Amino acid sequence: MGKKGSQEDQLRDIISNIEELNEGQTEFLQAVREVYNTLNPLLEEEPEWINKKILQRISEPERQIIFRVPWQDDDGEIHINRGYRVEFNSALGPYKGGLRFHPSVNLSIIKFLGFEQIFKNALTGKQIGGGKGGSDFNPKGRSDDEIMRFCQSFMTELYRHLGENRDIPAGDIGVGTREIGYLFGQYKRIANRYESGMITGKDPQWGGTLVRNEATGYGLAYFVREILNEQDDEIDGKTFVVSGSGNVAIYAIEKIEELGGTVIACSDSDGFVHDKDGIDIDLVKKIKQEERGRIKEYAEEKGVDFHDDKSIWTLECNIALPCATQNELQKEDAETLVKNGCKIVAEGANMPVTHDAYETLRDGDVLFGPGKAANAGGVAVSALEMHQNASMDSMTFEETDERLQEIMKTIHKTCSETAEEYGRKGDYASGANIAGFKKVSRAMIAQGLI
Ligand code: NDP
Repeated sequence: MGKKGSQEDQLRDIISNIEELNEGQTEFLQAVREVYNTLNPLLEEEPEWINKKILQRISEPERQIIFRVPWQDDDGEIHINRGYRVEFNSALGPYKGGLRFHPSVNLSIIKFLGFEQIFKNALTGKQIGGGKGGSDFNPKGRSDDEIMRFCQSFMTELYRHLGENRDIPAGDIGVGTREIGYLFGQYKRIANRYESGMITGKDPQWGGTLVRNEATGYGLAYFVREILNEQDDEIDGKTFVVSGSGNVAIYAIEKIEELGGTVIACSDSDGFVHDKDGIDIDLVKKIKQEERGRIKEYAEEKGVDFHDDKSIWTLECNIALPCATQNELQKEDAETLVKNGCKIVAEGANMPVTHDAYETLRDGDVLFGPGKAANAGGVAVSALEMHQNASMDSMTFEETDERLQEIMKTIHKTCSETAEEYGRKGDYASGANIAGFKKVSRAMIAQGLI
């Protein structure tokens, strides 16, 4: 067997070893396979990385914290939730990654998100390592006071692991500006320190950055614009389907519509609304952000269709943007998208496209923007927030948006050029994985056996 064959075998053995070590952690192993299965061309260039066991080192978090979060509801009943923080990799900087509050949260999900975050953060070009955290707490239907008590209890344990040079959380599903406020307030009380840079996603009135709320969604739209530019094409005149109606989805829709695209559908976990004339984003914001309501109310108010009996991906569109959650776009959805002539799928959420679906899209000549590149705008602007906090300065909305556009352009260029350099032209997923992995591995090797 030639050198290439044996190296492929070694890679396969490494992956199966990681599978044994992390048995049952479905989402985490899915994320590891997704990255490692694209690394062959890089390992051919750097064969000594196999002996240095760099793949085994990167897939093992530096530290995993699991803790009890006791809290009391408005009726005085006691609840116990489980809290997590996985400090995955600090080769490029302090751990950085959001907190997710959702009943589906478990160690596997936090590890998959933390693993992805390592490479995403590397692609931003900022000095940030990778981490992620959260809880199986369900914020839906909870009062403001209950949310506050939960956040305070969560931070009472987590604070000892955090710090502006150590570990800096942010938001994710179920954690927005309100929760970040409660978390920061509790940290400040316990640490007796006004340490702005210990968390990002803060209200711009007290240390947050303008554009942070918009950053992931806007960044996604900018990334799609770069994909289209490369094809001498543009967003103007294209039809989009966007899943979700949370932070990422809302601002992706807003920017796409501003750039001349028409978004005909969005959703929440109850179903999707289909508005052929284009989603009225102000109405979505009113329902979802001001009233914390359900997307169904949009259909009732506008007199358009609401569906809870089929997938949003059955709608015809030029471009599909999954912005809700992991594994929401499956093989049969991908088949329908290909059949309906969809040309681009870009991930606003983390790992929303299953591996089977990704292969179907690739074989159907659909261009694919992987989450670790396409949704990196959020963490990139978080890094700008840290920078502003450290320098006790602030930037205008326009300046920050300008920086975000430059960053997304650079990330796209890195993915595109790396893919071409390693013989995978047009394959942004391989480009993102190789570029991110290379940067982190080189830093780790330079820092000794860590
Ligand atoms: P939000 O909580 O603001 O919104 C999530 C949206 O997705 C809601 O509309 C929610 O509907 C829907 N959703 C959540 N879980 C499910 C599910 N199991 N099935 C169907 N719909 C679901 O979260 P974000 O917008 O912040 O995050 C969305 C995705 O983007 C996540 O994958 C996150 O990791 C990723 N991401 C977020 C970043 C950020 O800056 N916020 C940065 C990078 C990635 P419902 O209200 O019914 O639950």
